[in-house]
Amino acid sequence: MARIGNAVRKSCKRWSALEVDFPQQRFYHSIEKGDIMHELSIAGSIIDIVGQYVESDMLASVERIGLRIGAQSGISVDALVFGFEAITKDTPLGAARLDIEIVPFTLRCGDCGNEFVSEDGTVLCPACGSFRCTALSGTEMQVVDISLREGPDG
Ligand SMILES: [Zn+2]
Repeated sequence: MARIGNAVRKSCKRWSALEVDFPQQRFYHSIEKGDIMHELSIAGSIIDIVGQYVESDMLASVERIGLRIGAQSGISVDALVFGFEAITKDTPLGAARLDIEIVPFTLRCGDCGNEFVSEDGTVLCPACGSFRCTALSGTEMQVVDISLREGPDG
């Protein structure tokens, strides 16, 4: 059992760079906050991703799903956790918990090259006042790893 778990974990490393992109949500857009349907569909995507990498008879062993969520992704973490728990309840993934790391909204200025973190989502270079800034991170939603519980006989 432990060997199977280790094998799965190893194969998961291969998609540590996997990214679920939301191209419609660039930094200059903001989506409706509190739109639970949005988070439910993201929770559904996370379940699909887990299903691609974990054998169906191992889903009940999934203990933790590591996510990185951009501060400016438009995703409400509370709504996502709530939605995920609601739709995995009474399923093999019912014991799985989301472990979420918030990625700061980081930009680079196209005029002076300054890299900075925007706390409030404003796209304005604090060094030179330019609006020609490109997001480096903080708009993504990534599944970074999946942890499986070791089997009782393993
Ligand atoms: Zn600048």
